[in-house]
Amino acid sequence: MLDDFTFSKLQDRLQKDGINPFNASAIFRAVHQGSIEASALGKSVRKWYESQELCQLEVVREISSSDGYTRKFVLRFCDGKEIETVLMGYEGRHTACISSQVGCAMGCVFCATGKMGLLRNLTAGEIVAQVHFLNRKLAADGRPPIRNIVMMGMGEPLHNFEPVMDALDILTDPRGPCISPARVSISTVGHVAGIRKLAESGKNYSLSVSLHGASDEERGALIPVNKRWPIAELLTTCRDYSVKTGSKVFIAWTLIEGANDSDDHARRLGELLKGMLVHVNLIPLNPTDGFEGRPPSEERVYQFLKIVKQEAGVPVTIRQRRGIDVGAGCGQLAGS
Ligand code: SF4
Repeated sequence: MLDDFTFSKLQDRLQKDGINPFNASAIFRAVHQGSIEASALGKSVRKWYESQELCQLEVVREISSSDGYTRKFVLRFCDGKEIETVLMGYEGRHTACISSQVGCAMGCVFCATGKMGLLRNLTAGEIVAQVHFLNRKLAADGRPPIRNIVMMGMGEPLHNFEPVMDALDILTDPRGPCISPARVSISTVGHVAGIRKLAESGKNYSLSVSLHGASDEERGALIPVNKRWPIAELLTTCRDYSVKTGSKVFIAWTLIEGANDSDDHARRLGELLKGMLVHVNLIPLNPTDGFEGRPPSEERVYQFLKIVKQEAGVPVTIRQRRGIDVGAGCGQLAGS
């Protein structure tokens, strides 16, 4: 589909179809900024443009959180497959939490999407279409467009590497939605091969790696992919990533009462990360159907933070669970 093409791929496609690639700018703007510059397109180019298909999305369900900061949408594609897209707005800044796959192959035990298995990958156009959809919603409310993107919806983005990279190329293109690469965050459960490719890509996106356990046994019980890429290999890859890119890696640690929230866990986490260019985000668990774990008390969360920060000197913050009442953990709506 036409919205799958990055600018350079669009130029190649035009060339292949016998159309002057000079038209790529106007067509790219038409697709990704919604403005068809009719006068800029000759008759034959316009005919070509109108013969092309664009990704179509249908809203199946929409829920807003009680605090009004989060709106969650279940969106359906032409083949009937459904995904979730979340719009988070705070003090006039809007962030899109978008999906990269329908379902997910990683099978994390605390995640509703993981229970679905991988149904299929999204195309670049289907990833981009989620942002266009949210921008139309924002425009209808007279609000400014999306300025931040987190690849933290359904799916493991680095397991669908090329379409995700193409989608982010499009979303950060100044001729398109023009989102700053520094405001794009890719969240991975520890897909080591993908982290290596991302480091090689030269893209300046922010990288967040989910750890959740300080030993292979503990982490493997929550994240099955740890068997393929154990902690030592994952953290070596994160170190290499920082050396290659000069960027810190964000480490996500979902706190689950009784499973990984003790003082001992905090100390072992600190030991693992000491000296690395990292920032830890602590996330009290978002309860999901089918997983019995619960978030720890606020007191426990602060005690955990204190140990990691003071004893290991690792920077750490607590992430708020916005939208918990709309099931804004990945896959909680579409999965139901
Ligand atoms: S947490 Fe992320 S990687 Fe793990 S199963 Fe869920 S969507 Fe997949």
